[in-house]
Amino acid sequence: MNNVKVLLFYKYVNIENPVEFKKKHLLECEDLGLLGRILIAKEGINGSVSGTRGQTENYKQILKKDKRFSDIEFKEDDAIMPPFKKIVIKVKSEIIKFQQDVDLNSKGKHISSEEFLDLYNSGEDVVILDARNEYEWQVGKFKNAVTLPIENFTEFPKAVEKLEKLKDKKVVMYCTGGIRCEKASAYLIQEGFKDVSQLHGGILTFGKKYPDSVWEGTCFVFDKRLKSDINMKSGPITKCRHCKTKCDQYRNCRVPECNDLFVICPNCDIKFQGCCSKECWKKIIIQSNKIQN
Ligand SMILES: [Zn+2]
Ligand SMILES: [Zn+2]
Repeated sequence: MNNVKVLLFYKYVNIENPVEFKKKHLLECEDLGLLGRILIAKEGINGSVSGTRGQTENYKQILKKDKRFSDIEFKEDDAIMPPFKKIVIKVKSEIIKFQQDVDLNSKGKHISSEEFLDLYNSGEDVVILDARNEYEWQVGKFKNAVTLPIENFTEFPKAVEKLEKLKDKKVVMYCTGGIRCEKASAYLIQEGFKDVSQLHGGILTFGKKYPDSVWEGTCFVFDKRLKSDINMKSGPITKCRHCKTKCDQYRNCRVPECNDLFVICPNCDIKFQGCCSKECWKKIIIQSNKIQN
């Protein structure tokens, strides 16, 4: 039974006093008993929260009552277990770290999931650009998408230097929920890209509407689940690091000094006790022997 609701949302809007807003908002979230992680900056809000249907519905109402967020959009997902342990709200300098000044007034135009799918079917010469990190597109991406070898969104501008030849092409970019494309598309335009648009609502919105179409694999998400259960039936495109069977479940290596993010199948997760390699596994075995002796 999926009775946990997960909300994902963001809005770029001027928040005059983020510290003040954080205090008030934290109390509201605590009163609701909501779990999650929310970032607040002068440029807006970015969050993911979870709770029962009642709690998340109430949360939506509370946020929308504030006129700065009256038109905020929520992406919704179901989960079996709450993907957060507590509620954390942080004040940051950016709601998504990019470290690059961009003019959000001249960003790529939004296109709907429907228009996005039409582009695929039209056969038009268009570049589908994935704005996400390598560990995200490794487990899933849109067909024929151009991907970037980046580990962090702040590396996006550097990676764009290699896309010089795409400047005159029609570029449609996407990310998980849309927040990164707002900045990334503005950056591309600033760099002289002539025709840039972005998938409105990102992969999560598209996946709800058109599962089993032009998406391959799964969708990485930044909470304990590490992947969204949105209904995409194409099957995994990655393999277990240990036994090489096809699967798409990430985990962090159990050895704290390692903490490597890697793909592992359920069998190997048990066999190797959540370790990324035989070396790390040995450390765990030695440790547990010490405790027993
Ligand atoms: Zn395996
Ligand atoms: Zn390891």
